Amino acid sequence: MRASLSLMPRFNYAHEAADKFLMQLSVDRLPFNPDTALKDIGCKVYTYTEVAGHNHITLRDVAERFGSAEGCTFYRPGLDEYIVFVNDVDPSIPRLRWTLTHELSHIILRHLADNTADQLENSSALALSNIEREADACANELLGPSSVLYTMGCLTASAISETCFISHQAATIKENFFSKCHGYRCSRTEVLLLSQFDTYVQGHMIA
Ligand SMILES: [Zn+2]
Repeated sequence: MRASLSLMPRFNYAHEAADKFLMQLSVDRLPFNPDTALKDIGCKVYTYTEVAGHNHITLRDVAERFGSAEGCTFYRPGLDEYIVFVNDVDPSIPRLRWTLTHELSHIILRHLADNTADQLENSSALALSNIEREADACANELLGPSSVLYTMGCLTASAISETCFISHQAATIKENFFSKCHGYRCSRTEVLLLSQFDTYVQGHMIA
């Protein structure tokens, strides 16, 4: 049965789904590698440069056709197969890592599998914004699992950016989150995730 688009972004669901995915793939260290993760789940990744070359069109045409200057994901329901397209021109490596992880998050959160293309096309701007916010929340947790960073004492934007290989802007969001935390209470999934990261955490504690 297909799920209808939620009225509110499901941040807890996105966070939990990211942690479960890290466990499923036995990820036990940072930085997270979205290329490997996409490959591990059998997802094909093509760059905008490849699409432009193959179809003899400009990069601007590719972005226009995909409706995004950064990246997009297609789903083939019959084959249960995903293809990710990513704009490889200009972005910094942290930006590229973010875009790939954001697209991976749409797959993890089943945004395309649980909603038909028609449903997505006819949904409200609010519903579409919600799925983008969920994908951002999932990407944020994949690239910098909160329980792991908190346990390591990796709490400042510069340390987070260096450890997770994400932009300073993205790291600042995590720093602001931690600055509001008075002790981090781990979920059951996070306790298991922490044991998976145990050796890494012990070797990378920040004084
Ligand atoms: Zn998106």
